[in-house]
Amino acid sequence: MRKPIIVGNWKMNKTCAEAVSFINEIEPKLHDGADYGIAAPFTALKDCVNTAKGLIVAAENCHFEDNGAFTGEVSVPMLEEIGVKWCIIGHSERRQMFNETDETVNKKAKRLIEAGITPILCIGETEAQFDAGQTEEVIRAQLKGGLEGLCPKCVAKMVLAYEPIWAIGTGKSATKEIAQNCCHIVRDQVRVMFGDEAAEGVRIQYGGSVKPNNIKEYMAMEDIDGALIGGASLKTDSFEEIINATK
Ligand code: 13P
Repeated sequence: MRKPIIVGNWKMNKTCAEAVSFINEIEPKLHDGADYGIAAPFTALKDCVNTAKGLIVAAENCHFEDNGAFTGEVSVPMLEEIGVKWCIIGHSERRQMFNETDETVNKKAKRLIEAGITPILCIGETEAQFDAGQTEEVIRAQLKGGLEGLCPKCVAKMVLAYEPIWAIGTGKSATKEIAQNCCHIVRDQVRVMFGDEAAEGVRIQYGGSVKPNNIKEYMAMEDIDGALIGGASLKTDSFEEIINATK
């Protein structure tokens, strides 16, 4: 049985003060039926880690090198030092705007796992690829590149987030059937690469305009173990509604 995992991706939102106040408000609403978390900007991470008791705190990115001339970047040991245990990699916004590739995602995954930090690896196709019927091919290629060379046991503990780019921030969420079908492909690709144990263990999230009123239908699908949530994770009331809908 895979435990559901719901993570809010705050993106470039929330000051330290706002993040701490959100966590203090939301923490008493959590329950044991699922893992809940937030991904916060680098500046707020230390305060988030020091405030959170049950809530998972994730970084939104990292660099794969430990140090050096990489202006503006943050390394895995820096995250490790402040107690971060989770990190999003390969988000489509980073792939599209900051040159993230399957190769850098793979390097990041390896470095994070070495440090005991769990990657939340994002994949997903563009609207043009979806329209051209290339979704499966794109997802399989992203996973092949992103997961290459990892150990099956490591993959079993990871989280993979299927986020079709056309559904992110658009209100145009994927139907539950499309989301299920794609998450099934994700699991199948893990099975092809790493075998049954990894495929049955890995938790797969759907992301893209997940809201309090549609989360339940995604969570009911066989291969969807959770959600990665942008807009609806920014306010405590909508995040609380999502928590309640996943009890
Ligand atoms: P929205 O929930 O705002 O569509 O964002 C999804 C996302 O990108 C989460 O990583």
